[in-house]
This record gives sequence, C-alpha cells and structure tokens, in this order.
Amino acid sequence: MAKPTNIAADRSRDIGSVSGELLDGNGAPQESQVDMPRIERAVCEILSAVGEDPNREGLRETPARVARMYAELFAGLHDDPRIHLQKFFTEKYDEMVLVRDISFNSMCEHHLLPFTGVAHIGYIPNGKVVGLSKLARVVESVSRRPQVQERMTEEIANLLIDELEVKGVAVVIEATHSCMTIRGVRKPGSVCVTSAMKGIFRSNLSSRSEVMTLIYGDRR
Ligand SMILES: [Zn+2]
Repeated sequence: MAKPTNIAADRSRDIGSVSGELLDGNGAPQESQVDMPRIERAVCEILSAVGEDPNREGLRETPARVARMYAELFAGLHDDPRIHLQKFFTEKYDEMVLVRDISFNSMCEHHLLPFTGVAHIGYIPNGKVVGLSKLARVVESVSRRPQVQERMTEEIANLLIDELEVKGVAVVIEATHSCMTIRGVRKPGSVCVTSAMKGIFRSNLSSRSEVMTLIYGDRR
C-alpha cells in the first residue's frame, strides 16, 4: 500500500513549488497569464488519443500538473529580457567580461521536448556594465519559451548590442537536444554548438580567438 503515500508526497511537492512560484518574482510563472484549464483539456485529449485512460488513478492529476509545468517552462513568454539589462552602471572598463557555463533549460519548438546546456557570454563594454547575474537572467528569460538554439544565441547577442551598446559580444551555446537523443536519429551524447559573434569579435580575429580561449582554453 505504498501508493497513497507516493501520491500525497507528490501533491505536497506540487503545492510547495506553486507557492514558491507565487512568492518568487524573478521570471516566475504568472499562472494568471496562462490558460490553465485549456492546457488541462488538451493534455486529456493527448492521453486519450494515444490510447490511455485519462481518468485512471495515476493520471487523474496529470493534466493539472502538466499545465503548471508548461506555465513554468514557458514563463519567458511573459517576461521581457530587456528589463534585465536596463540597470547598468557606468564604468571605464573596456576589457572583456565573460560569464561561462550559465546553465539553462529550454524547449525545442519543433517537438516541445527539452534541450539543455550552457551558455557562455562575453562582451567588451562601451561604458555600460551590468551585474553578472543579469546575464544569467537574460538567458533564463530567452530560454523559457518555445525556442531553437540558433535563434536563442542570436537573440542574446542582439540584446547586448541594443541595450548596452557593447563594442563586441560573443555568445556560445552548447546543448543536448532530447528530440535528437530519445527519438528520431537517437544519438545520445551529441552536443549542438552555436555561436554569435558581433562587433569587434566578428571583425577582429585576435579578439575572437581570445574569447574562445577563455571559454574553452583550460578544458579542451
Ligand atoms: Zn526538436
């Protein structure tokens, strides 16, 4: 009779995460902005369509759980990544700033399956410097929506160009796509690497190799 205990534990976890979400104002899901009952109906439909019984005990809470999950995974749709770059400070620092290994989870918009990995962001300021955590916030905001890795890379680079008017920006993203590992070609371990080089990192070869050395130097 272990089942009821598991269900109770599962519920309390869900409740815990929901109240956590409501308290946390940092890119947390605003469930009021998402049509939760509509997701629940759609999940019931999918379960029926694949031959399941959405009313069996183990699945009864699933549609509501999936709705909360989607609200969280797609919270970036209701967040403007620009706001994270608007609090900058003026600093006469014109050397490179690099934040490596910013982990993220995103959802491939072609299959609605997760792709997860790390982003590295390097930039050369032009008078405006942001708190390092803000770069992680930008990655969070851009990744929590239906995405493709190529566009995500480009979007982050363009945000730094537009909001901070940087002299150069380099964004490198490495990710594994579960739509490639668990279905389709099924190639676990494959890593997709994308990069966007703008400004001085595009025009100047030594700046570009400097940022790549800082990202990869001591690891590969
Ligand atoms: Zn995919």
